Amino acid sequence: MPTFVFDDAILASSFNRPNRTGFMLESLADLDSELKNLGARLILRRGNWVEEILKLAHRAKANAIYIAEDVSRLSRQRLDKLEAAANTVGVEVIRQSGITVIPAGAVAPPDSDHYKVFTPYYRRWQEIPWRPIASTPKSITPVVGLKSLPLPKLSALCSGATSPEVILGGETQARKRLNVWTKKDLANYSDRHDDLPGDATSRISPYLHFGCLSSLEVATKLRARTGGEAFVRQICWRDFYAQILAARPDAGWSDFKDRGDRWNQDSEAFAAWVAGRTGFPVVDAGMRQLVREGFMHNRARMVVASFLTKDLYQDWRKGAAHFLDWLVDGDLANNNLNWQWNAGTGTDTNPHRIFNPTRQGNRFDAQGDYVRRYVEELSEVEGGLAQDPDPETRARVGYPLPIVDHQVAIAEYKEMRATPQPPS
Ligand SMILES: Cc1cc2nc3c(=O)[nH]c(=O)nc-3n(C[C@H](O)[C@H](O)[C@H](O)COP(=O)(O)OP(=O)(O)OC[C@H]3O[C@@H](n4cnc5c(N)ncnc54)[C@H](O)[C@@H]3O)c2cc1C
Repeated sequence: MPTFVFDDAILASSFNRPNRTGFMLESLADLDSELKNLGARLILRRGNWVEEILKLAHRAKANAIYIAEDVSRLSRQRLDKLEAAANTVGVEVIRQSGITVIPAGAVAPPDSDHYKVFTPYYRRWQEIPWRPIASTPKSITPVVGLKSLPLPKLSALCSGATSPEVILGGETQARKRLNVWTKKDLANYSDRHDDLPGDATSRISPYLHFGCLSSLEVATKLRARTGGEAFVRQICWRDFYAQILAARPDAGWSDFKDRGDRWNQDSEAFAAWVAGRTGFPVVDAGMRQLVREGFMHNRARMVVASFLTKDLYQDWRKGAAHFLDWLVDGDLANNNLNWQWNAGTGTDTNPHRIFNPTRQGNRFDAQGDYVRRYVEELSEVEGGLAQDPDPETRARVGYPLPIVDHQVAIAEYKEMRATPQPPS
């Protein structure tokens, strides 16, 4: 009896954002139509997650509840509650690996319950046997007499509008996209994944986040193909962060490694970053892509995160929260631990890594096409000049001067990091 419960606790939280919730509704509609083809349907409920599942289990006279185990604190706590309550009425809860290629905690170094460095994790991840891919059932016998909610409208679940160019949800879309991308771009993934205007990455992250695609299936099928190794290595990053969050649930919002930061509180600078008006074209292009598409290229994510946490020396949590407001693939483990990696409070083995935004633009968007695509004011500025227009051009097109001098800002950042605040 395939079931989905809209959890009131999540709907009331900041995790309920139009881009993700809209994508989820499309994914549920697609799942329901696929289930109908197999003779069943998706039972939808809304309310207290634990209570609704128990009520359904009771009505259906179920003796077991199967669920893919997640790693965030909230999902683990609610699953523990469900298990405790279900056990008192003789219903078993069976936790299954589903969201990652290998389960969080399946491999660990000798001295810890999780890996803190990616490369040794990746080595072990490749070595251990992966689960076989489960096949899709040929048919499902429905449980009769159970009521289901109609699929709600987005406006009934959250307020606000989705991004104008947001991707469509659902497994059908996911498979189409992955098939087209695999044929066209997988072989050259290693060379092209950093090419900002080329936009040559798979864009499957939202589908992985919502379970429309199985990361195990994708990794198993593509790892031996030309280009597959570099691509599947990226999927391993997803597993890496999941096993960190599973072992250290506090790392979602607390420093993985405390650097004694006294973050700058300048709200005007933060507002300029959010609006894509920092005067650094590649940073602004990334920030505007986020709002227009609910997505940002990985290279741009790194550049804008570095800019906020190093050049502006602002708290990574503010940047992570803004990303989670817009990203369709917004995911606590991947978003917040990537933010920490860029802020130098996370798992980067070189925590003082600096990205020079202008050099990043020149390197990964040499002709300025990515900038012109997203920063309207610069749409007429030709070629690589769009990466650093002169003051006259900026004034003419209404584009701001840089809000900081990169060299000065980085010198200040380094000084702050050299004199950390002692832990309180
Ligand atoms: C500051 C910051 C925030 C991020 N927030 C998120 C987030 O909320 N959700 C999210 O899924 N990814 C996040 N990422 C990782 C990465 O940017 C996206 O997964 C990637 O851009 C998605 O595009 P794609 O599917 O085309 O990636 P591809 O290049 O096609 O990669 C394939 C898959 O590998 C995984 N992957 C790739 N890079 C990473 C990475 N660095 N960390 C973890 N997994 C990775 C993703 O699942 C991705 O779909 C973040 C990165 C940074 C620097």
